[in-house]
Amino acid sequence: MKINVLDKGFVRLVESMGSDLSIVRSARVSYDADWRAGQDTGSDARLIRYLLKHRHTSPFESVLFTFEIKCPMFIARQWHRHRTWSYNEVSARYTELDEGFYIPDPFTVGEQSADNKQMRLLGSNRSFSDTESIVSMIRDNALRTKAVYDNLLARGCPRELARSVLPMNAYTRYFGTVNLHNLLHFLELRLHSHAQWEIQQYAEALAKLIEPVVPVTMAAWKGLRA
Ligand SMILES: Cc1cc2nc3c(=O)[nH]c(=O)nc-3n(C[C@H](O)[C@H](O)[C@H](O)COP(=O)(O)OP(=O)(O)OC[C@H]3O[C@@H](n4cnc5c(N)ncnc54)[C@H](O)[C@@H]3O)c2cc1C
Repeated sequence: MKINVLDKGFVRLVESMGSDLSIVRSARVSYDADWRAGQDTGSDARLIRYLLKHRHTSPFESVLFTFEIKCPMFIARQWHRHRTWSYNEVSARYTELDEGFYIPDPFTVGEQSADNKQMRLLGSNRSFSDTESIVSMIRDNALRTKAVYDNLLARGCPRELARSVLPMNAYTRYFGTVNLHNLLHFLELRLHSHAQWEIQQYAEALAKLIEPVVPVTMAAWKGLRA
């Protein structure tokens, strides 16, 4: 129920409520046939596909997930723009942050796109030594700022102020609760090739984790995206 993501991150499915059956039941109450759900799996699957295709979205709100997520802060900032999730995050006011830093693999550094402001070109011709030195700079900066952070804490600096020197690649950890409708919306946006590569990795992990809970919905969703 836990998938490792990036160098030190992960996504864990903590708990879930509901299944494909909950979606079908919620949809069928419209015509007073809710308890027919589960009697004919073929017709249940067709109904789920129909609901997805025609954006009859509310039945998908009957399935809930809570995930534990460990990701770099710059990914958490993107994630928390999704307001339909509920979050609780480790507080660097209450505790000293010691979750490590995201140091990218040289093969995933790529380079800045010249014609698309937000895009990074992966698989570019940049030489391996270039990307190795970029990774070294990122690592050195993390170690330097961690030393300053530790030094500030040792001098009695309040935790809430000491954390201000930490870079965006410091890892954070939080719980996020979301219903299936809003999760599919998240996946559509964050699996897209225009989303940052790192958050795409988290979106892929989420999709894998929910597949055993709602296999029929995920099969229909993937079919409609293909
Ligand atoms: C590739 C990419 C690039 C991005 N770039 C930037 C950027 O440069 N700067 C930036 O600030 N953000 C950026 N974002 C974030 C983006 O603008 C959204 O905030 C984020 O994707 C969350 O989407 P959402 O609002 O649809 O999701 P949610 O917050 O989960 O909301 C789901 C849906 O609920 C409805 N909703 C929720 N809250 C409101 C509300 N207050 N009013 C009306 N309707 C609401 C909307 O229909 C919304 O689509 C980017 C996102 C992506 C995927």
